[in-house]
Amino acid sequence: MIRQAVIMAGGLGSRLKNLTEAMPKGFLEIDGMPIVETSVKKLFAAGIEEIIIGTGHCSEWFERLADKYHCIKLVKNERYADTGSMGTLACCIPHVWGDVLILESDLIYDNIGLSVLINDSRKNVILASGATASGDEVYLEADSNGILKKHSKDITKISSVYGELVGITKLTRSALDKMNSYCTAELQSQPKMEYETAMSYISSNAGNGGEQIAIRKIDNYAWREIDDENHLEMAITQVYPLIKESESLRSVRREVLLNPGPATTTDSVKFSQVCADICPREKEFGAVMEWISQELSGFVGDKDKIETVLFGGSGTAADEVMISSCVPDNGKLLIVDNGAYGTRLAKIASVYKLNFDVYKSSGYLPLDAEAVKAKLIEGKYTHLAIVYHETTTGLLNPVPEIGRFCKDNGIVTIVDAVSAFAAIPINMERDGIDFMASTSNKNIQGMAGVAFVFCRKSELEKTKDYPMRNYYLNLWDQYANFKKTSQTRFTPPVQSMYALRQAIIETKIETIEGRYARYSACWEVLVKSVKKTGLKMLVPEEAQSKLITAIIEPESSSGYNFNELHDFSIANAFTIYPGKLSDANTYRIANIGDIQPEEMERFTVLMEEYFSKIDI
Ligand SMILES: *Cc1c(COP(=O)(O)O)cnc(C)c1O
Repeated sequence: MIRQAVIMAGGLGSRLKNLTEAMPKGFLEIDGMPIVETSVKKLFAAGIEEIIIGTGHCSEWFERLADKYHCIKLVKNERYADTGSMGTLACCIPHVWGDVLILESDLIYDNIGLSVLINDSRKNVILASGATASGDEVYLEADSNGILKKHSKDITKISSVYGELVGITKLTRSALDKMNSYCTAELQSQPKMEYETAMSYISSNAGNGGEQIAIRKIDNYAWREIDDENHLEMAITQVYPLIKESESLRSVRREVLLNPGPATTTDSVKFSQVCADICPREKEFGAVMEWISQELSGFVGDKDKIETVLFGGSGTAADEVMISSCVPDNGKLLIVDNGAYGTRLAKIASVYKLNFDVYKSSGYLPLDAEAVKAKLIEGKYTHLAIVYHETTTGLLNPVPEIGRFCKDNGIVTIVDAVSAFAAIPINMERDGIDFMASTSNKNIQGMAGVAFVFCRKSELEKTKDYPMRNYYLNLWDQYANFKKTSQTRFTPPVQSMYALRQAIIETKIETIEGRYARYSACWEVLVKSVKKTGLKMLVPEEAQSKLITAIIEPESSSGYNFNELHDFSIANAFTIYPGKLSDANTYRIANIGDIQPEEMERFTVLMEEYFSKIDI
């Protein structure tokens, strides 16, 4: 698995002088975006977790890019004016921990090139194309097995042209180390060595301690390196349109899910599931799950203090894990029920015959935190279970306030944050949460199939001796086994796990605060339209989560019919969902997932069209 990329961006771009004197070449814009930013986005979409950019000339431009994409690490080549691309690459090598993609910064390319390299079974592979006639070709010569022998800009120095160097290569860390040694040894005679020189050297000396680098040629590959004004012109008028068309041909038919999960996903999350088969007991897959677990922990607190335990299952599985595993026999549990999910927690507790009471509250009025606190003390409860965001109605419960109170009073807190996590910023330490459930298919924007429980390590340790009330869903057994083996006890949903990994990469880039801002913007659009049509919302605006809105249905005598509204929406690629309350007729519009305010605008236009025919 390729988890890192290096972009070499130290160069001066001297042939584009008037354009790049005060700017690195990568910041030339095509279609309103710097070409290096387009490249960064393609790399993250291809599953790269971290991009190392080797900078030099005008390095401050990259600082702004790194502020925007948190998974970029900058390494400055202080000697950029006196070294070549190999000098910049050498500065990045200490930060590389495995197989890596190496790219030049002044490239535009079809993203298929990334997946071709990632899927090539050989370890070291250079991407090459057929003839480009760009006037700036780097020709590659191969041996009879397609292994790189030599490169040159002078075609007369090449006995037979195998392909042209694109500027995207997959290399192992050991190949990089060998290139670095060669560069160091040659420093006096070749101070401005280019990285392709080092590649040719190690590949043609594979028998002498070097390492073979294969050439993977795609004949009609769309790409352009931009070295002068002529290249820029060609890139804009000829190559960029080809790339755009080719990439759009691979997009998946768009359906916007306005139901409260599974949520709409990006194409990159969908495609991340299409990868080589792997036995989940292999080390490589264990490393994927360890990364997922740690990154999830990092979203809700200090990675050293939170353990995230993964299970195959939907969100309810995570709820059942917590309720069945986190209350000792002598414990006394209070469950807050102000919606269908609170009711579900109580149902689970009754199946396991726990000692519990239910605190019942209105499904649409804000929960009275003071009354819950009083009940907790009065009943001498040891544990509290509560839903963070009641997806039934869109009601947000005051979990941080109640959680902190519980911490002060030694009460363990169990929180169903299935539809809150990854939208509402949560810090388990700050908010007094000990155990918290969520799932891969809601705000984290992955596929259905992975349930997870966030645990404060100190509280998790205590569950070790609690009775094992079930087998598959036992928290301690799953945790202890994973710590020992980096495996789940039973077959995990392998492809959903890869999708979750990609969803985490994308969440880290957007940030949870940024995601909530986007969701809120979609909600604003919706609420404006609801008010315009004269419809009423169930929950007072100030108590709403801004993640899902329960809308009160007009009387059936008005001509309103949910099924008609649903069918009309789905015919336009929007999926909506009926209500779930027994005592109020509502339908629900969720605005979670990969959705933009413009799409919500399109939906509200449809809704207004439908309701214009109804007498509200
Ligand atoms: C979605 C959700 C769940 C889990 O439902 P599943 O159908 O098991 O995925 C649990 N609690 C809340 C609050 C939810 O929104």
